[in-house]
Amino acid sequence: MQLSELAVLSPVWPVFFLVVAGVLGACLGSFINCLAWRLVHGESVWKGRSHCAVCDHPLNALDLVPVLSWLFLRGRCRYCNEKIAPRYMVAELVCAAYFISIVAVYGLTIHALALCVLGCVLLGLSLVDLESYTIPNGFILSGIVVWVASFAFYDVDLSTIGLGSLMWALTGSSLLAVLTDGLLGAFVVAGCLLAIALVFDRVVGRQSLGGGDVKLVFMVGLYLGLVGNVLNLMVACVIGIVFAVLTQRRRQNAEDPRAFPFGPSLALATWFTLLFGPTLITLYFGLF
Ligand SMILES: [Zn+2]
Repeated sequence: MQLSELAVLSPVWPVFFLVVAGVLGACLGSFINCLAWRLVHGESVWKGRSHCAVCDHPLNALDLVPVLSWLFLRGRCRYCNEKIAPRYMVAELVCAAYFISIVAVYGLTIHALALCVLGCVLLGLSLVDLESYTIPNGFILSGIVVWVASFAFYDVDLSTIGLGSLMWALTGSSLLAVLTDGLLGAFVVAGCLLAIALVFDRVVGRQSLGGGDVKLVFMVGLYLGLVGNVLNLMVACVIGIVFAVLTQRRRQNAEDPRAFPFGPSLALATWFTLLFGPTLITLYFGLF
């Protein structure tokens, strides 16, 4: 159901659902922060209480309220007064904003749910990639599993809908069209990228693109479809260049100044493509 349909009943409903989406997004963002931190630092993901990264003091419920705890404690640990990177709060805000935007565009549908889970996966792998320059396969697999699982609910909402990948859910697609477009988007775009990267590496004589990046392009391609994933890759390159310029000075002091995480750029681009892709693509093809 779209939010505009709910607005007819009462204008309170869309606001209510957007607020719920935001709160849920912030809470999940907080959980993903913790999960990514534990993955990078080699701690068990499921066992043990949350603790301060510096003094190891266990955190209680008041320290774990998304965004608010960080603001009230002015970005410092309550126990050792050490600074807590604003990154954690930013990740929670980004996750909240992502959930709100997805529900605003995709409504209260099974797509919105699948795309929200995809957002969590993208946030997790971005945080890990930023710190460790790798994208664990678990994230890629989770994304693929969610995509496949979303087909189990297909008849519920989408029986009336026509062309393309999940991104086109609003214009409507048959199950076969979604499946085909998704697979094309994944295999063709990731395949071409892999081929270009291999040739480029041979010419330049060093590895340019990580294997994790190619797998990530494959995974989001399932959701975005063929044209969507091409657009996505272009947007990711623009974001990547901006990101590279902004972090240039910091990277010069790093161990390998040329090491550069591309995952976050791809993740941000996917968010952009999910929201604006269908409009941009329709406009572009309308030019001919
Ligand atoms: Zn502490």
